[in-house]
Amino acid sequence: MDIARIAVHESVAKACPLEAMVAALQGPDVPVETVGDDASFDASDCVVTFSPREAFLDAAWVHGIRAGYDEFDVDAYEAAGTVLTNSTGIHGDTVPETVVGYLTAFARRLHVYRDRQGDSDWTQEPYDAPFTLTGEQVCVVGLGTIGQGVADRTDALGMDVVGVRRSGDPAENVERVYTPDELDAAVADARFVVLCCPLTEETEGMVDAALLAQMRADSYLVNVARGPVVVEDALLNALDDGTIAGAALDAHWEEPLPDDHPLWDHESAIVTPHVAASTSRYHEDIAALVQENVERIDRGESLRNRVA
Ligand code: NAD
Repeated sequence: MDIARIAVHESVAKACPLEAMVAALQGPDVPVETVGDDASFDASDCVVTFSPREAFLDAAWVHGIRAGYDEFDVDAYEAAGTVLTNSTGIHGDTVPETVVGYLTAFARRLHVYRDRQGDSDWTQEPYDAPFTLTGEQVCVVGLGTIGQGVADRTDALGMDVVGVRRSGDPAENVERVYTPDELDAAVADARFVVLCCPLTEETEGMVDAALLAQMRADSYLVNVARGPVVVEDALLNALDDGTIAGAALDAHWEEPLPDDHPLWDHESAIVTPHVAASTSRYHEDIAALVQENVERIDRGESLRNRVA
């Protein structure tokens, strides 16, 4: 593979300013330019993009600037012989810090007081509402970059960390690792269940009414993965009937979440607009990944984060 152009697709603007991405990717050898949906590609192009487009299959290599690549047709990339890489590995601080924020808000009731602040409302939560994270159990589902970051931070806060990973192998700072077929048992004692897995055929609809019923009535679900990992109606019912105590959702079934969606006003929910990974240096993190792979191509090595 010989890369003669890096084409930054305009959809990148969903995650960071286009100009910043172009500037960060500029190097001495390969020209960088922005492209829109009218662009065409050939076998010397690398495309850097947020969203997939069919025309990208004509390029040599497409780099998706998100960790999840569920929107890309991996089979079509393999059939076309187009290399596809993703951005796993750069979200180990951002998303876990956001998760700690959700957990802290629920335990210390910060989201409730922030809501009341607008009404100059001094009402204090009931005596039995606040609790400490220390000593509580968290179940981290998916122990990759994000899951390990959540495990490290929650362990440091004195939480009892259990996790779910396909191999079942031990993980650092995780006291007990379950396999996906033991998910019921993994969530049963947890005060928090944090979803950090990709959206795949296996994980779609994984959190359904039956799994929510296995969770404690005083537990919270955190979804920083992808919306369809959770069955929407099942979660809404579980929040309404007190099957679980609350949920923090950064990933949704439809994005933006529709204006009339019941979660917006749900007092037990924290809704964020898919920003758990946001950082003012996202463009630099992506550029470092792309540049590392450009160098690997020059050296004839295999690419990092290759998914097709
Ligand atoms: P990663 O590839 O480093 O880790 C994912 C882990 O999940 C892997 O270890 C994988 O083996 C594991 N896994 C797969 N199926 C599983 C299952 N059924 N049960 C348990 N574990 C399973 O990816 P990452 O960077 O940690 O990101 C994870 C996911 O989080 C992404 O695929 C993406 O969907 C989502 N994400 C969301 C945001 C956001 O802004 N909210 C940002 C980045 C990533």
